Amino acid sequence: MEKATKRPKNILKLDETVVNRIAAGEIIQRPSNALKEMLENCLDAGSTSIQVTVRDGGLKLLKIQDNGCGINKEDLAIVCERFTTSKLEKFEDLNAIGTFGFRGEALASISHVAHLTIITKTSEMQCAYKSSYHDGKLVGASKPCAGIQGTQIVVEDLFYNVPTRKNALKSPSDEHNRIVEVITRFAVHNSSVGFSLKKLNDNGSDVRTSPNSTQEDNIRILYGHAVAKDLIKLNVEDPGLKVKANGLISNVDYAGAKFTMLLFINHRLVDSTPLKRALDSVYATYLAKGKHPFVYLSIEIAPNCVDVNVHPTKHEVHFLNEDAIIHKIQSTADMLLKNASTSRSFAIQTVIPPSNFLNKPESRANNANATKVYDKQLVRTDSKDQKIDKFLDKSTTASESMLSSLNQTSMEASYGPSVSLNKRKEVESVSDKVRTFPMVPEKNNQATSHANAENTTERRQFELTSLIQLREAVKNNTDQVLRDTFKDSIFVGCVSEKHCLIQHGTRLYIFCLERVAEEFFYQKFLDEFGNCGVICLSDPPPLYNLAIIAMDQEENEWRPEDGPKDYLGKQLKELLGCKSEMLNDYFSVQINENHHLAGIPLILVDYIPDLTQLPSFVLRLASDVEWNLEKDCFDTICRVMAKFYRKPNDHEVLNVGSDKDWKWTVEHVLYPAIKASLLPPKKWISDGTILQIADLPDLYKVFERC
Ligand code: ADP
Ligand code: MG
Repeated sequence: MEKATKRPKNILKLDETVVNRIAAGEIIQRPSNALKEMLENCLDAGSTSIQVTVRDGGLKLLKIQDNGCGINKEDLAIVCERFTTSKLEKFEDLNAIGTFGFRGEALASISHVAHLTIITKTSEMQCAYKSSYHDGKLVGASKPCAGIQGTQIVVEDLFYNVPTRKNALKSPSDEHNRIVEVITRFAVHNSSVGFSLKKLNDNGSDVRTSPNSTQEDNIRILYGHAVAKDLIKLNVEDPGLKVKANGLISNVDYAGAKFTMLLFINHRLVDSTPLKRALDSVYATYLAKGKHPFVYLSIEIAPNCVDVNVHPTKHEVHFLNEDAIIHKIQSTADMLLKNASTSRSFAIQTVIPPSNFLNKPESRANNANATKVYDKQLVRTDSKDQKIDKFLDKSTTASESMLSSLNQTSMEASYGPSVSLNKRKEVESVSDKVRTFPMVPEKNNQATSHANAENTTERRQFELTSLIQLREAVKNNTDQVLRDTFKDSIFVGCVSEKHCLIQHGTRLYIFCLERVAEEFFYQKFLDEFGNCGVICLSDPPPLYNLAIIAMDQEENEWRPEDGPKDYLGKQLKELLGCKSEMLNDYFSVQINENHHLAGIPLILVDYIPDLTQLPSFVLRLASDVEWNLEKDCFDTICRVMAKFYRKPNDHEVLNVGSDKDWKWTVEHVLYPAIKASLLPPKKWISDGTILQIADLPDLYKVFERC
């Protein structure tokens, strides 16, 4: 082997500036590192407001203004020297360190790779002082200047003397995003401090939170409502492990494209790959493949159990009992998600019909040429199979709540001065008034001909322009896709008095019963104009009495300035008395010569509206109808009647001896009629009247993972 001829070079002690610059390069790798260090200093100084201004992603300018305690004038000469700190005196202090910094390296490092200026004022100083630093040393003397209490640190031309580093950081926008990320995280964790981040010469701000907000508020502001609405609180405390953790984690309804984890250990922004992995594996059981959670976690561990004496930029931390602590947090998160998923609510999305909306899955299934039909595309076609009622708790039946609403709007109360407190009795007396009405269709018409197929009397035809225009408006305003959805749907069940479920193809929809029924009846009254049957009230209630009851009901909002009830009741009686001929002829609302309400329209066979609404109906007929213009008059009468008819009567409550309650009526009378003729208005697509809540193929995706 050839002998080494090279003579070893002499070892020299490096120049201090070179040492410091090397060290600085390690600590300050990019603008966001520098910012993090300086934000920690602001928090250590007790600031409640921190404003950051940047230019070119912090490479040109990074300015941080706080309202903390400031720096004493006598310290300004050495503040940027290496290993000068106000936070640590003895090595033992490290065991109980409560501040972010303690090594006194950050400012020193920055001054070695950038132009650094500090303007600061403590509460005791008369004025602020401005100092510039170069390579850890104060340049010249600190100069008095104007300034508010707190500290402003200005970092300019970062890495001006480290060209390789500067060239490596090519994209200011990338650096800017990292800065946004750091401030965002600090802002969520330190919600009692107000943060702002703006670009120089830019009016808007990229981050803005106010002091004394909550962590939820700041998550909503900074990460959006989609994240904030789905959060679950996580709290863990284990005195044995000397650990306390609390946080906000997304529930199973949130599915992010990437894992967002905000982790603070002893209020220090850090990363922990094992903890991240442990949490991601918990969520994997609940979320679809490729979907991730949002996790904000603040862990507090006894200071003597964390090795804080790691390099300032080493975000990865290690702590005593790491595995046990991670396991504890993991199992708590799992339990919370399990509980949340049993009461899982589907994120309701408005129906925005997809382009293939009309491509009905059942037609695909029936098509012989179609490719294989998967279970997820199978459609239940027999609505008698099973009803939703089977799964609902019978103890809270709607009839009971009807009963209580009946109590509030008791008709009995108005017929006599005495008010019975017995619920059942009241109900019975209401039914006395109305239950014996014979449903005698007095006219020959479409509605009756449904019931009586032999009836051959002709329909009356009206060539009224106003009527034609109103019918045209309904037609022109129809959403064809929704029309088909209703037409080809299967009724699944009533989830409440207000909402029903229907199925169309593989999709499940929920719709607002009152709104849909009201529109249906409006259209029906226009169609059956002059051709309705009559429901006779066997003991016709006086209009005056109905008006008085209505005014006594809170929902009708009678106010003293409207005039005395007695006067208004008489006016109503007179007004409707004058209109009785027209009301009877066109709408089958029958008012007899004594001004009693003798009949209401029969618009659907077997359908009686909720008779507790009679008083309100009569009041609205007088107050909401536009009597002067023909078109408006017909329009408003139909609207008022539709409002009255939208809710069916509950036979069960009225004790008619029938087991057919309101739900039965909705399913077997009302919904089939809606299916057959309703023309849904376009606005329903976006106003929440009908919503798609699930699609079978999507559910399969969810359950595949379980
Ligand atoms: P460390 O934070 O490790 O002490 P730094 O170099 O970050 O070291 O800061 C040095 C010292 O400068 C701090 O100990 C603190 O006394 C002072 N200081 C820095 N920034 C601020 C600030 N924004 N407000 C008040 N004092 C500050
Ligand atoms: Mg510091």
